[in-house]
Amino acid sequence: MFGMVRAVARLLAVVALATAALTPFSRLHGQEAAWTADIAAARRVAALVPGRKPLRVNVVKFAESRRTKNFSVQGAPVQPSVQARTAFQVVYADGSVMVDAGMDQQVHRFFGRGAEEPYDAAAAQAVAAAVDRARLIVFTHEHGDHVGGVVASPRAAELAVKTILTRPQADTLTTTPQMPEIRLTAAAARRYIVIDYDAYYPVAPGMAFIKAAGHTAGSQMVLVQLESGREILLAGDATWHMDGVRLVAGKDAPWVNEDKPAVLGQLRWLNGLLGGEPNLVIVPSHDDEHRQDLVARGVLGGKFE
Ligand SMILES: [Zn+2]
Repeated sequence: MFGMVRAVARLLAVVALATAALTPFSRLHGQEAAWTADIAAARRVAALVPGRKPLRVNVVKFAESRRTKNFSVQGAPVQPSVQARTAFQVVYADGSVMVDAGMDQQVHRFFGRGAEEPYDAAAAQAVAAAVDRARLIVFTHEHGDHVGGVVASPRAAELAVKTILTRPQADTLTTTPQMPEIRLTAAAARRYIVIDYDAYYPVAPGMAFIKAAGHTAGSQMVLVQLESGREILLAGDATWHMDGVRLVAGKDAPWVNEDKPAVLGQLRWLNGLLGGEPNLVIVPSHDDEHRQDLVARGVLGGKFE
């Protein structure tokens, strides 16, 4: 009897260890192991949903936050640096998926630093129109400049039924939203497609979520495999500038409350993808120089369809 209990306990311990090894966020011996992920596993998951892969990814900048670079990349010089507020459109032959949804001017005013934070009403209108046309909307994380275009929209009820929230995103938006404008009531939250997953999630043909709690509890990256073979890794706010990936340097922004060891793990992982993955392009949400370069080189489209 006790022998069997011991055997079961041993088996459970082995299962627990094996599970920990498969989970990006692993807790071993009560200690948070550094975040990591497996690009091969993410690729397998991205290929699970049958269907034609996406043709291209477009990006639109609808607002700017002008700060100095030292806030985005610890140790960087105190020199002006534009943080673009962006949304992405993943274009399929038969429809599109939005990754992030922009924000209206009221949410913009919450971030409000006057003329330092230009808002492009025409671009924001293009984002809103793309959100309307999208078959599906997903979010890199639950901050206002990413979810506002759905959650704070007058048409939120209509848009919610085609929008995926992860459980941590839904929980944060109902309990501790970044700003009052994006708070969800329990009833409003129920209109969304709320999912929960541990490590990777197959969203659509050629598209997978990679769980990446850190910047926020509900942060995730989105791997997009194009039909051409190119891969776009939408990295959200793991960093605000590619130098954060190149130098494995986190933010130094006192107003941001994030899980720094997890974020550093993400930067380390992204850095490891820089050398050996010529067909994979890492795209943080807010790096304006990187966005301009990728659009100029035709890697990303510069407007929505
Ligand atoms: Zn952001």
